[in-house]
Amino acid sequence: MAQCDFYDLVIIGGGPGGLSAAVYAMRAALETVLVEKGVTGGQVTMSDEVENYPGFSHISGAELSMKFTQHAQSYDLEIISREVTALNPGLKHHTVKLANGEELKAHAVVVATGGSPKKLDIPGEREFYGKGVSYCATCDGFFFRGKTVVVVGGGDSAAEEALYLAKLCKKVYIAHRRDELRASKILQQRIFDDCNIEMLWNTVISQINAGDDGVNGVQLKDTLSAETRVLDVDGVFVFIGFNPNNELVPAGTRMNADGMVVTNEKCETNTPGIYVIGDLREKFARQIVLSAADGCTAALAAAHYVELKKSMGEETCDFPPDSDE
Ligand code: NAP
Repeated sequence: MAQCDFYDLVIIGGGPGGLSAAVYAMRAALETVLVEKGVTGGQVTMSDEVENYPGFSHISGAELSMKFTQHAQSYDLEIISREVTALNPGLKHHTVKLANGEELKAHAVVVATGGSPKKLDIPGEREFYGKGVSYCATCDGFFFRGKTVVVVGGGDSAAEEALYLAKLCKKVYIAHRRDELRASKILQQRIFDDCNIEMLWNTVISQINAGDDGVNGVQLKDTLSAETRVLDVDGVFVFIGFNPNNELVPAGTRMNADGMVVTNEKCETNTPGIYVIGDLREKFARQIVLSAADGCTAALAAAHYVELKKSMGEETCDFPPDSDE
């Protein structure tokens, strides 16, 4: 049950962006609530190691997430653990609907819902998810100790997760559809230096095979010659990017062709009082530090916006509003 009839700010999503927004909003004395459907921390919770968040040369994703959460909670932030089902923009205020039917009214809303792993959409992927097909090495790598796995993808995620798996597994293949990795140079060097990792260049997986004990192989296809062959593996880890979680973004909001929301430098969307931050926002790079920076920007911009609304005599938490309808 929400503590307030009317909020200055509702933050949807409790990853690094949402939690940073909460820290800045609480410090700006905004009446704030953060709504998160799962555990706070976001995607980074699943990262084995984070080495590029300033101030922490080496920290696990789970620990960094915990620090973000603890920091936000140190300001007595209200956190509601529930799914948001809709965000309805309004002229006087915006309304955030929760899965239990409850409605939160607010001057401003920060949407920080991030993204979800992209799927290969090949035979066997859906059927054998959890039986050898995984999208999280930190979560599932333990089950593949001493076994052989294939990682799909050529970006930072694939590289990081392959390096993690190489510490546990007998052998790690990386199947990449081109002959050059997209991952940062430092990760590439570590991949090439790791004798437990073998690159399968110009290779895609066209099918995942399994028996009674789960995945036992994949069908590989050479992207240049179109030749196919079977590779025996016990697990398939897919890291081919992610889709933005834009389901709550109101109709009419400007988005790019990939479904990322286009904002100005204050993280404002084209709807006044609605901000989009983090991996859901169109930007050059998707990094934890950038999500955190977005959270700061959006909260400061929202504070200014809320002040303006209040100066126009609009609702506050202490005085429940009349209906917007
Ligand atoms: P990404 O950078 O978009 O890379 C996706 C990879 O998957 C690419 O190599 C792509 O191949 C390949 N791919 C895409 N669709 C495919 C398909 N259908 N079949 C086979 N391969 C496919 O995604 P990401 O690695 O998840 O990273 C997402 C963002 O998070 C990036 O901005 C990344 O820098 C950031 N990130 C940063 C860190 C870090 O700094 N520590 C860690 C993780 C992620 P092509 O190269 O041919 O397009």
